[in-house]
Amino acid sequence: MAVNKEAYQQIQSFLQEKNVQLVAVSKTKPVEEIAALYQLGQRDFGENYVQEMVGKSKMLPSDVRWHFIGHLQTNKVKLIASFVQLIHGVDSLKLLKEINKQAAKAGRVIDCLLQVHIATEETKFGLDKEEVEQIMSTLKTMPLSNVNIRGLMGMASLTADERQIKKEFDDLKSLFDSVEGVDILSMGMSGDYQIAIGSGSNMVRIGSLLFGQRDKK
Ligand SMILES: *Cc1c(COP(=O)(O)O)cnc(C)c1O
Repeated sequence: MAVNKEAYQQIQSFLQEKNVQLVAVSKTKPVEEIAALYQLGQRDFGENYVQEMVGKSKMLPSDVRWHFIGHLQTNKVKLIASFVQLIHGVDSLKLLKEINKQAAKAGRVIDCLLQVHIATEETKFGLDKEEVEQIMSTLKTMPLSNVNIRGLMGMASLTADERQIKKEFDDLKSLFDSVEGVDILSMGMSGDYQIAIGSGSNMVRIGSLLFGQRDKK
């Protein structure tokens, strides 16, 4: 299975016109395929397993910007703190404190997104609106100087009902608009990125349209 270069060019020109940033989701895909997109100019790649991201980061150029988009366990933060560009899935203050601690050790400030639960499925991780507000207000009184909350991330329900998907993205956009001092809204994947952009997304995470279907693990 090879990288779909044509799809990449098309999607990238569509996104650039709309000022939307592309995170190419390379999870489960070999470094050769990541390198192929790198050669076309892509620098932002998303992974959702810590070990896999660490391994790939060692084999690819150091100007790749690695986005961690999976569920991050506190005990694994230290493995990525020295190089991760943006952590999309922060869903607790406890995790944020650990990222702050490991970022300080690495002498960095790490950009983070709070993951919001917008889908109807119960299995997906994420905060609700009140929890987002709570974390933001806690951070006002207790600033963590080595993390920077840049925005919100969310995943819509896996459904063919586009109105439902749009409603979920619209809800996340209005929560995003209510949070002070944030500028990244990460929403939209291969199947729903156009809907997400229509709702105001400015960062999409696209895997299978670029790399083909993933093998089921
Ligand atoms: C796998 C994954 C994606 C990409 O999904 P595709 O449907 O292949 O585009 C986006 N976001 C998250 C959080 C993922 O885990």
